[in-house]
Amino acid sequence: MTTGKLFILSAPSGAGKTTLLKRVMADLPGLAFSVSHTTRLPRAGELDGVDYHFVSRDQFEAMGEQGTFLEWAEVHGNLYGTSRPALLAQLATGVDVILDIDVQGAEILRKSAAIPAASLFITPPSLQELERRLRGRGTDSEETILLRLKNARVEMQAVLDYEYLIVNDRLEQAIDTLRAVVIAERSRGHRLPTGQAIEILGEL
Ligand code: ADP
Ligand code: 5GP
Repeated sequence: MTTGKLFILSAPSGAGKTTLLKRVMADLPGLAFSVSHTTRLPRAGELDGVDYHFVSRDQFEAMGEQGTFLEWAEVHGNLYGTSRPALLAQLATGVDVILDIDVQGAEILRKSAAIPAASLFITPPSLQELERRLRGRGTDSEETILLRLKNARVEMQAVLDYEYLIVNDRLEQAIDTLRAVVIAERSRGHRLPTGQAIEILGEL
């Protein structure tokens, strides 16, 4: 059975991962986003079931005890996790799935080798620019911004554990690079840039 390819994306908060993902997913067919569960409160504009499944800590812990999560981690004081059955069902439809997870979650998946994946790390050009972006986004409290900046220094140390590095300095260039990586991985799996299998081989 053909299943989609898994892409793991990590980045310090504010690096621009969501912005890049939205643009590349609008461009390339056959790419889906894995919707994580989190105990974090929704930001303005975020929708339950679209950006995250927003759950209470009790609900999250109950799911954890039932073994629902393929991986989970505490990030910036909240719990985040990937539902194993939901991810497997998504991959089984044949689409490529993007996991937006932190460096701890990526490490868990790397060690378990449960599902083969391509891994990408997105960095801002500098910590000063990261701070500017977190403040410019205007969605987080001062306390949250300071915590995310502090954690960014630690998260950046994991960069060499990832196969691909994308520096999100000029947005259009970073979008081109992310799109190129997805297309290259599809090519490696003998698929067209659109994600469809190459069937012409049998006719050569
Ligand atoms: P993340 O999902 O990594 O936390 P976002 O995509 O929310 O980050 O981006 C954080 C802020 O930085 C947003 O306001 C976004 O518009 C802005 N941003 C993203 N990429 C760039 C870029 N290359 N140059 C300038 N600002 C950017
Ligand atoms: P945010 O609160 O900004 O949406 O996300 C904070 C961090 O949590 C980001 O680094 C993001 O990648 C990470 N994250 C989101 N979903 C998951 C998940 O399911 N598992 C793990 N381990 N991290 C996640």
